[in-house]
Amino acid sequence: MRRRWGICLLALCLLCGCAGAGQPRTSTFFAMDTVMDVTIYGEEALLSDVREMIADLEAKVSVTDRSSELYAINQKGAGKLTGAGGELMRAALALCRRTGGALDISVYPVVREWGFTTGEYQVPDQATINGLLAGVDYTRIRCDGETGAVVLPDGMQVDLGSVAKGYAGSLAAGYLREKGVGSALLNLGGNIQAVGGKPDGTPWKIAVKDPGGDTPMIVLSVKDQAVVTSGGYERYFQRDGKTYWHIMDPSTGRPAERGLLSVTVVGEDGLVCDGLSTALFVMGLEKAAAFWQQSRDFEAVFVTDRGELYLTAGLASRFALTEDHQDAVVYVIER
Ligand code: ADP
Ligand code: MG
Repeated sequence: MRRRWGICLLALCLLCGCAGAGQPRTSTFFAMDTVMDVTIYGEEALLSDVREMIADLEAKVSVTDRSSELYAINQKGAGKLTGAGGELMRAALALCRRTGGALDISVYPVVREWGFTTGEYQVPDQATINGLLAGVDYTRIRCDGETGAVVLPDGMQVDLGSVAKGYAGSLAAGYLREKGVGSALLNLGGNIQAVGGKPDGTPWKIAVKDPGGDTPMIVLSVKDQAVVTSGGYERYFQRDGKTYWHIMDPSTGRPAERGLLSVTVVGEDGLVCDGLSTALFVMGLEKAAAFWQQSRDFEAVFVTDRGELYLTAGLASRFALTEDHQDAVVYVIER
């Protein structure tokens, strides 16, 4: 008799779509220089665990916090990145290699010279850029996988900002899954990380912004994946009628201009999605499409400066244009 009640309750729960998920619990906080929104279907205490986890990572790898491990390495040229910080550094370097330097964590002094770290924007002269570029080369960073010891060549400084939020999302998602959470959505300053789908089992619907306007352009259906967008519209300044943004081409020391307004990357690994959204923006559509054709771990959406939308084949059945963008021209990139 008892067992039958159990089955009835379970059936009722499944019918309501709650399946044991309970009420959503949300938390909004500021970390890594951005607003973060976390919604989980699970215990309240997990929210503060996630917050702490992200704060701990930031405390290790912040480039502005004088007490961080990375700050010390940037000042002294050597030091240790412990725990998740070391893991982040190793994964970031692997991504620099994989993208042939389109992502280069040592481009930081150039980003700083343009004023993107302080908001005191300027267009540096070519001689200054050339001088700084001489020190940009991630292949010269020594990082010991076992101990987390890092050695930088003279004058080099690194910044993990292009991958830190994506990595934080992956870490948090892994932790929540481990704790039995089947449904959660983390928005870490535009880096979206999904755990499972919605509590009713359907995919999360993630809006991708129109980089030329304020409204969402397309909606992607996502389960257990990250969705990360990099665009020139996020942080920029204008001088003499020209727009300069915060995504640098490490080969020129100037904002990357390859005909793209934004790149969105969808995949299992948040760090890979975050790093690749920056790197593919630097590569431009043609190279990025070829890069995708040789990869198996992500899909992407490209918006060009002519307003065209390019989707990689794996997203073709997982997207919808929003009402305002029904007439957008959509191309599918095939393998
Ligand atoms: P955001 O952090 O604004 O979401 P991204 O993930 O695209 O944007 O990372 C951009 C940040 O990474 C910049 O603010 C800059 O500090 C750094 N950066 C810019 N260009 C590169 C690059 N080519 N390789 C590595 N880091 C970069
Ligand atoms: Mg990025």
